[in-house]
Amino acid sequence: MSVIPHLINGELVTENGRAVDVFNPSTGQAIHKLPLASKETIQKAIDAAKAAFPAWRNTPPAKRAQVMFRFKQLLEQNEARISQLISEEHGKTLEDAAGELKRGIENVEFACAAPEILKGEYSRNVGPNIDAWSDFQPLGVVAGITPFNFPAMVPLWMYPLAIVCGNCFILKPSERDPSSTLLIAQLLLEAGLPKGVMSVVHGDKAAVDALIEAPEVKALSFVGSTPIAEYIYAEGTKRGKRVQALGGAKNHAVLMPDADLDNAVSALMGAAYGSCGERCMAISVAVCVGDQVADALVAKLVPQIKALKIGAGTSCGLDMGPLVTGQARDKVSGYVDDGVAAGATLVVDGRGLSVAGHEDGFFLGGCLFDNVTPEMRIYKEEIFGPVLCVVRVNSLEEAMQLINDHEYGNGTCIFTRDGEAARLFCDEIEVGMVGVNVPLPVPVAYHSFGGWKRSLFGDLHAYGPDGVRFYTRRKAITQRWPQRASHEASQFAFPSL
Ligand code: NAD
Repeated sequence: MSVIPHLINGELVTENGRAVDVFNPSTGQAIHKLPLASKETIQKAIDAAKAAFPAWRNTPPAKRAQVMFRFKQLLEQNEARISQLISEEHGKTLEDAAGELKRGIENVEFACAAPEILKGEYSRNVGPNIDAWSDFQPLGVVAGITPFNFPAMVPLWMYPLAIVCGNCFILKPSERDPSSTLLIAQLLLEAGLPKGVMSVVHGDKAAVDALIEAPEVKALSFVGSTPIAEYIYAEGTKRGKRVQALGGAKNHAVLMPDADLDNAVSALMGAAYGSCGERCMAISVAVCVGDQVADALVAKLVPQIKALKIGAGTSCGLDMGPLVTGQARDKVSGYVDDGVAAGATLVVDGRGLSVAGHEDGFFLGGCLFDNVTPEMRIYKEEIFGPVLCVVRVNSLEEAMQLINDHEYGNGTCIFTRDGEAARLFCDEIEVGMVGVNVPLPVPVAYHSFGGWKRSLFGDLHAYGPDGVRFYTRRKAITQRWPQRASHEASQFAFPSL
């Protein structure tokens, strides 16, 4: 079994100490050992970042952007290799892995605009002989902690932008599927990034706590589950750090009686079962307005769920791979047991699925529940697996109330042909990302990504314009160059025009 190293100050390093296994979820076999960084190892990454910062912050933004242009090319050239690594350790299909990489590359493209996005604002003659401007300056050493479900895309939400803004970045990826994340960081160094500007350290709570406690780390970006997001936000802000912590989700799709049902069904199949439901924007609840819509939806979904092509993610032409770990598979299965016990109707049962040739893989077939009600655990909690719950309501208002009452507010969508209903939904729904006939409304890189309520702790969303704000601080400069011959008397009143 090979050991996956840390990447610190441009060097691949391993350490003796605590380690965990990384699995191939399609075979159920451990394939790599992953060292868990000690506090000392984290400090080495911090020291390297601190040492690299003065020169990097003074590197012209256009030069920083040139590194990102080369990085984008390297990512595109290595798409197949990266997708293979994602699929081997995460389990998602190769096509899905390539898709997440493409969405990640969008963020590198946005970062290529560094000279434009860091221009700041300038006002001439704000007073006699006085000009003023505001500048976006980097924070220093910043860190990111990322989840298993997008090992390429979510880190790319963070560090390309943080780095072009002039910061040095330490990434602590998920310990479940770190190989693609590490390869991508190596490509960034190959693109010409100075050593120390970006380090990757593997680890668990101990590594994260070391980053939280380090006074040199000025900001933390986190993406993962809500309890950990809340913890990192509380501990980080308590120490005066800037924190954006994106958490879990329960995303509802509303189906109106006038929806184009066939297209809605196709959209729901991908959004609920793609990536085995392990997406923070996955649709896990279909809210049907009227029994007629619900009956028709369930009738159309059942044969499609039963026909899902499920197998090892690295094989071609599949719809779904396995869940990421045996523990994740058992947890999702446990939710299905719980839903049955609570009285929901299990219309399609994916439990106990065995894939020929991959009998030890962490597979679970698509599951569909009907007649789910809001007090059930399968409705309230994030399942993070291939389980779709149908909830029946009588009106759009009732559907919206249900969504607004839910603790999470990451994504949602409405399927309708009625512009008035769609407009009301967009205006009044308490969710951060909304789709109209779009099931996974993940914003493009030049907008920003973030949920509301307990799906995000912090003020600024990830990437795009909010990302620029997050990774920079403003400095307002007011400058006066008096004319040579003039003499200005002291002024004791507060300066005004
Ligand atoms: P997770 O919270 O278990 O882990 C995320 C990161 O936190 C990992 O790097 C992990 O090592 C670290 N971590 C785990 N336990 C910790 C602890 N006790 N203290 C400090 N750090 C700890 O999440 P996951 O299982 O990797 O990912 C799935 C979750 O992420 C889901 O809840 C999903 O909704 C969420 N997610 C949210 C978004 C979003 O944008 N809102 C995007 C992707 C995933």
